[in-house]
Amino acid sequence: MKLSLSNGIFSKLDIQNNFNAVKQLGFRNIEFNMKSIKKEHDTDVYREQKAIAASGLNCLTLHSAVLHVKDPIEVHQAVYYGKISLECARALHAPLMTVHSNVSKKLPRNVRDECLTEVFGPIKPFAKKLGIKLSLENLSYNSTGFGKNVEQLEEVLGVIDPEGEMGITFDLCHALETKVVDKLLDNYGRRICNVHMANKSHQPFTERKPELIHFLSALHEYNYGGPITLELEHKTSMEDIAKTKELFDKLLKEY
Ligand SMILES: [Zn+2]
Repeated sequence: MKLSLSNGIFSKLDIQNNFNAVKQLGFRNIEFNMKSIKKEHDTDVYREQKAIAASGLNCLTLHSAVLHVKDPIEVHQAVYYGKISLECARALHAPLMTVHSNVSKKLPRNVRDECLTEVFGPIKPFAKKLGIKLSLENLSYNSTGFGKNVEQLEEVLGVIDPEGEMGITFDLCHALETKVVDKLLDNYGRRICNVHMANKSHQPFTERKPELIHFLSALHEYNYGGPITLELEHKTSMEDIAKTKELFDKLLKEY
């Protein structure tokens, strides 16, 4: 398992200072979160590409820009977010992109499934062309999006991924909040290809909590060797991030 930090936590900084903060903490790997790009000029990807090359950091994964479509008229915008995120993933050499379902949980099922088909229809072949794997994230109950438990994720995957090619980004914080850790593990253990690591409310784990050890042991049993991406709340102090890193540097040696 490879320790990584979501740079979304430094999204208020410009991109150079963002990467510098990651490096200052001693991380070598990042998940690039699209919210780190403030203005959405498509050509910004070249700036990010230069900045990451200069930083020497590895971009293991990219978190797509997301729009939880609440009316079919917004589909084109969700497709745009997905495609520009894929362009950025290519520029940063990220082999994997984490996506949400991109549909609001308030839509009725027939409209929801129609929107899912229309959003992922163009995104999937584009990802394939660029050689980037898509990975669906489980959401929390307070998210506006659809896909917080196995039943909902099954519906989404049934529509957008009948071939079973997509990976799963297991967000531990969301799974703890919605109390579905074991159910998600039982159903998707072998499909996990990214982990968003945090305690409830995206608080950092700074000690060996039983729920953390239980989860890491389960990942180990599934032979998981992918990223452990610390995805922490904005106000987490540099000191607490450093403490969390220290804990995971030790823990990941044991698994
Ligand atoms: Zn997450």
